[in-house]
Amino acid sequence: MLTKAAVTYGKGEPFKIDTITIDEPKDGEVLVRIKAVGICHTDLIVRDQYYPVPLPAVLGHEGAGVVEKVGNGVTSVQPGDHVVLSFSSCGECAQCLSGNPYACQKFFELNFSGKMKDGTCRLHKDHQDIANFFGQSSFSQYAVASERNVVKVPKDVPLEILGPLGCGIQTGSGAVLNKLKPEEGSSIVIFGCGSVGLSALMAAKVANCTTIIAVDLQDNRLQLAKELGATHTINPKNVSNVVEEIKAITGGEGVNYSIETTSIPAVLRQAVDCLATLGKAAVIGAPPVGTEVSLDVNTILFERSLTGVLLGSGVPQLFIPKLIDLYKKGKFPFDKLIKFYTLEEINQASEDSEKGITIKPVLKVS
Ligand SMILES: [Zn+2]
Ligand SMILES: [Zn+2]
Repeated sequence: MLTKAAVTYGKGEPFKIDTITIDEPKDGEVLVRIKAVGICHTDLIVRDQYYPVPLPAVLGHEGAGVVEKVGNGVTSVQPGDHVVLSFSSCGECAQCLSGNPYACQKFFELNFSGKMKDGTCRLHKDHQDIANFFGQSSFSQYAVASERNVVKVPKDVPLEILGPLGCGIQTGSGAVLNKLKPEEGSSIVIFGCGSVGLSALMAAKVANCTTIIAVDLQDNRLQLAKELGATHTINPKNVSNVVEEIKAITGGEGVNYSIETTSIPAVLRQAVDCLATLGKAAVIGAPPVGTEVSLDVNTILFERSLTGVLLGSGVPQLFIPKLIDLYKKGKFPFDKLIKFYTLEEINQASEDSEKGITIKPVLKVS
């Protein structure tokens, strides 16, 4: 059948609204009518080909919609169910079998190779294949996803806000709740107050961190950080040394935890340098492949550690319903990050996101 989609035809080119063909779901796959889809930084760096996903492609990996049809063997959802689409994983490798699908050994192949698990594409235009993204390609009226992407969600929450839980929001909040697991009363600093950073910040509040420091170059984002629970904010434009400022806030000790979301190596260095002894830093921001950072070995030697976090280090089918529950109880107001656009406004929404005007653009598709 036909679907309207925002297609990426060439490197760095604007998204083009086009009508393309979408296949029926194959075994283990689900056809979803997309209600709304978030735009994530990763969509934009793939549009610009920092990551070599084949083009043309339909990007979009924060889809939320209604199951239209299921392929053979699908048991976890049925037509009419509300779902969020997250990342794809194989379900068969050692990491998947150990409950760590975000570290799937086939992660790159399943999410960035442009093909579904069986090596074929579901999207076409004039007999040419259009690459799939993250096993979903949800900048589209309809998307075919693998069952392992699909997370069933309750119907008493507005579906149009839920898509970003599939990537950006679970990434930031999972870095805190699944990876760092701060003790009650601990201190944390979050570098970068985009959707990932602010999700980490809300999660730090859920975890009862009592010193929550937000660092960002834009005062409007720091203001929102305060509303969401930051106890201190730092605009690097206004201080001579961010690390010293963080140490001063924590009585000279440094923070117990830090999170880096900006993709800037110099900021990653700060995220390590501001740690107290036994502190842990998590890096989420993704710079171009090959980017290096320098660290003072002695800083790490004194029982500090640095870890990477992919997609919040959780199992989406378990973690996303938890986040929805926290939202319903008023403890995780991630809807405050969202601004809605139409699918046709995707290029404007992308620009607003890149300029920091909009924290989390969500395209209403149907
Ligand atoms: Zn796997
Ligand atoms: Zn993403």
